[in-house]
Amino acid sequence: MILETLRRIVGEVGRARDLNGALEAIVRGVRDSLDVAVSSVYLVPRSQIGERDASLVLMATEGLSRSAVGRVVLGLDEGLVGLVAQRAEAINLDDASTHPRYKHIADIGEEPYHAFLGAPILLRGEVLGVLVVQDRAQRRFSDDQVSFLVTLAAQLASSIIQAELSEAVTQPPAERVALEDALRGVPGSAGVASGEAVVVYPQADLDAVPDRVCTDPADELRQLKAARAAVRQELATLRQGMSQRVSNEECALFDAFAMMLNSESLFVGMERRIRAGQWAPAALRDTIREHASVFEGMDDDYLRQRAEDVRDLGTRILERLQDVEGVVREYPPRAILVGREITVTHLASVPEGRLAGIVSARGSSSSHVALLARALGVPAVMGASELPFERLDRRELFVDGYRGVVHVEPRGALRIELDRLVREEAQLGAELATLRDQPAVTPDGERVHLYVNVGLLADMAPADKVGAEGIGLYRTEIPFQVRDNFPGEDEQTRIYREALAAYAPRPAVLRTLDVGGDKPLGYFPIVEDNPFLGWRGMRLTLDHPEIFLTQVRAMMRANVGLGNLRILLPMISGVGELDEALGLIERARLELRDESLDGVHVPIGVMIEVPSAVYQIDALAKRVDFLSVGTNDLTQYLLAVDRNNARVAPLYDSLHPAVLRAIADIVAGGQRAHSPVSVCGELAGDPLGALVLLGLGIDSLSMSAGSLPRVKRVIRTVPLERARELARQALACERGDEVRALLRGAIKEYGLGGLVRGDE
Ligand code: PEP
Ligand code: MG
Repeated sequence: MILETLRRIVGEVGRARDLNGALEAIVRGVRDSLDVAVSSVYLVPRSQIGERDASLVLMATEGLSRSAVGRVVLGLDEGLVGLVAQRAEAINLDDASTHPRYKHIADIGEEPYHAFLGAPILLRGEVLGVLVVQDRAQRRFSDDQVSFLVTLAAQLASSIIQAELSEAVTQPPAERVALEDALRGVPGSAGVASGEAVVVYPQADLDAVPDRVCTDPADELRQLKAARAAVRQELATLRQGMSQRVSNEECALFDAFAMMLNSESLFVGMERRIRAGQWAPAALRDTIREHASVFEGMDDDYLRQRAEDVRDLGTRILERLQDVEGVVREYPPRAILVGREITVTHLASVPEGRLAGIVSARGSSSSHVALLARALGVPAVMGASELPFERLDRRELFVDGYRGVVHVEPRGALRIELDRLVREEAQLGAELATLRDQPAVTPDGERVHLYVNVGLLADMAPADKVGAEGIGLYRTEIPFQVRDNFPGEDEQTRIYREALAAYAPRPAVLRTLDVGGDKPLGYFPIVEDNPFLGWRGMRLTLDHPEIFLTQVRAMMRANVGLGNLRILLPMISGVGELDEALGLIERARLELRDESLDGVHVPIGVMIEVPSAVYQIDALAKRVDFLSVGTNDLTQYLLAVDRNNARVAPLYDSLHPAVLRAIADIVAGGQRAHSPVSVCGELAGDPLGALVLLGLGIDSLSMSAGSLPRVKRVIRTVPLERARELARQALACERGDEVRALLRGAIKEYGLGGLVRGDE
């Protein structure tokens, strides 16, 4: 029951069209469900969140004087509400007026109420506001009531921010208070760019439909009419089919649907919205929300559940609308892809040269989309979970991939500053381009081999532009992901041949399939509770030797006459897996020899990205020709931090001393076995990371093409001796932020501050 009530209130708040609507839904819902006389919500103004001298403003109330809304402003050191915020903890009192922190506020109408319960509204450790209930009697609220309010407050934080941002972006720019700072995610790919937002959204998801101005209402109405007729037809067919299998009673749902579909009130609302300038899918979205919320507000359980039917009907109409409309997308010349979850396929669908930036609500800097963004040299902001997507389509955005911030139509001084940054970026790009033919040699003569990470063929050109020595990591799962079935041996041979030929005689490291985790194959669904600890990479391909053998044979066929292939094995957690994989590779070689295709010796490498592999480094290294450290996964598994989870993104730190210690141990193991050690995780492409890796004794670095010039610049500037000293100091640090400060200091000292702008 409690859960049901919580869900209902959170749902209503989520569907509110603006902040006031959301706050009113909160106070109403709380007062009714706790059966108390007063329920109020106070919020800290956005620009003051996290400040010691922040204030709390009464934003909505049921039970106190309405005229006090917006007028009552308390400091954090004032009153019981301030105390709740200061302590970031609930306070439950039987008589508020006897508490030393009680503050009497005139004209608010609080006098008759004694019992007080306040709960902080917290988002990622910051107090956004306080939720308060009050009652006449002198009594303490029960444990159940306290936990209800605390749970509700915790769940509301994100919806409140969303409502606030959603409202803010619709206001004229001059009235947007500190909005820009609010659109925050985490840095996904370095750079600053401006462009036009293209919101990508899952099909048939009403809540994901963005606002869009319609230019031809008559055409939108025609589409809506066609969709309505198509759904009517579809329902009639469904009913017909069902009536033969179930009773009439069960068919009643279809009748209810048909009734709603014929109801003019539903369509009048849509028509009104379309005539006011909204396109049909968003007019449908808002009208369905409006109707569903009427049902949701009903006391009767049965009627309340009808809200689901309304939404179901809305989804059906939307499906048809999308049919009618087709999903042809026009991409503006500088498109910024924006969405709850941007996928590799979304990226692939943008015509070449038109992708200017990426903003994703989900994911973090080590998600695969972020890696691709870096490969393409496009700035990306990840984990912007509160971004009001539906309001952003076609708006002008600035994406700051250094700091992980998005700006919507910035004006004034901010705009001037951002324009300057974009210009500087272009200049930096041009400057870095001049490094193309320069070797990556430190001022004291140490040569560092720099390679690129690739996945989509589109990556090849930029790699060549930056003067890479070869491919250090080809993620072969990417060509598998953009298809709709497993590519056959011939097709794979063609794909790999293209990559090998583009770089020959320079080496190209092809990694065997690493699907699972966050890299699903649509045509090979895997459902697991813990995908990153599940059937992923080598584990999956060893269970499907036919997939592995086909792939390895295709790689070896592609290598004939070129001889630059190296094979890399992902997600090895122990010698058993490695021996098995090596056995299969030998089998593939013998099979090809039977066809008289005896390739040259192919060097085999193993990825060190699972902590157990670090502790078995000697046993692994002696079996293979080279080691490649996957710092993305090594960090996630060593620190137990999901690399894609925006909530724990601040904990995901590849410069954590524990990660550096593991890398130092891997380097030592490689040296004992005379196996070269490279790093192909994202740490290699981070100027700070590359610096410390150089000092730790890594032989080569492989990174996105977009990152390579920056890293080359670092290598050509900082002497190896200094890097070694920094690595020693970094290993002695106890915290990641100390390591970061140390390396940042050194980078700046060498005049390279512009490369690490986001670390300000
Ligand atoms: C890594 O884990 O560091 C790595 C390079 O592989 P991926 O990011 O593809 O998992
Ligand atoms: Mg990995």
